[in-house]
Amino acid sequence: MMQAHQADPTLARPEISFFSLGKAFIKLRHRTKWLKALPCHPIRYQLKYQADAWQQCFKSDKGFPKFKCKNHDNDSVTFPAGSFKLNGESLYLQKIGQVVLSGSNPYEGCDAKQVVVKKDDDKFYATVCYEVSEEHLAGVDNGKALGIDMNVGQFATSAGELKHMPDVARLEGKKNRYQRQMARRRRPNHKQGIKPSNRYLKARKRCRKAMRKIRHIRSNWQHQESSAIGKDYQYAVVENLNTKGMTKSAKGTVEEPGVNVAAKSGLNREILKTGWYGLKQKLAYKCELIEVSAKNTSRRCHVCGHTDKDNRKRQAVFKCMACDHSDNADVNAALNILALGTRAIGRGRGDSLETSVIRQEDMLLDFVKLAL
Ligand SMILES: [Zn+2]
Repeated sequence: MMQAHQADPTLARPEISFFSLGKAFIKLRHRTKWLKALPCHPIRYQLKYQADAWQQCFKSDKGFPKFKCKNHDNDSVTFPAGSFKLNGESLYLQKIGQVVLSGSNPYEGCDAKQVVVKKDDDKFYATVCYEVSEEHLAGVDNGKALGIDMNVGQFATSAGELKHMPDVARLEGKKNRYQRQMARRRRPNHKQGIKPSNRYLKARKRCRKAMRKIRHIRSNWQHQESSAIGKDYQYAVVENLNTKGMTKSAKGTVEEPGVNVAAKSGLNREILKTGWYGLKQKLAYKCELIEVSAKNTSRRCHVCGHTDKDNRKRQAVFKCMACDHSDNADVNAALNILALGTRAIGRGRGDSLETSVIRQEDMLLDFVKLAL
């Protein structure tokens, strides 16, 4: 592609492939003292992102790549194959040295492809990317399916179970308190050259710690629940929820202001907190994920199929107007979802194309996060 451009001088463009940028970098590294002190591979690998961004820019009309904010507190650096050695729990990183990994590793013995070291606030994490064989990842093959109805703060299964999210109210309260403290203290303003006060930085550190804890508790819960499902069921059927549409702000426009804006934004926060997407993502590589349309699943009677909004006069209880069947509303919805999913499996799962693509990617490279 590059050669074709060089042949025509009017189309000449700078060389922006990873290869040519890498070559230029090595030359520069030989001349520059401080570059030599840094690990070569991870810095050169950053050029791959730059090359990709420029290729993308020339291919589409999205415009020039944007520079990333310098002040990011959760920056990451990639160690490609060859610049690290992983031996059991000990990880050797070029120019950094030996570090010890903590945490369990289900992919020990698999081929490690790259390591991403990420700074999360004041802690460092290494995400090891493994090449995992299909057999290694294959879940149970028993043909059993489970319907899951996701709700705010909980989900219900077609087996009649209600799973509640762990309570993080205490941590949420802490986080809010520190956020209020930050608002009162002198915040940084880079344009006006104002530095943050020490008290501001102290509150920010505590706030981030609380947020990190909340994030870890939720993600751990999602992992445990999805693993438990993956152990017993081959298929997990979930609703195809449009979270983006559901959590749209009720603000409206200046001409037509919305109603109940505060209430809706509170609900939006609750919906996003549950982390449906995270749970789905984790389910997708622990079993086969099937998405079905969410339409009417909470209004239809699972026993007789009668669909009526009067079936659900109260939020938690489902009572059929036609056959008098009554059940927990979420479990009834989960049973409907399961029925739709079973039909989709019978059809050869033609409508879960998107899901199967996700699964294939996850099969090749699985990520394990280990604290350094
Ligand atoms: Zn009924």
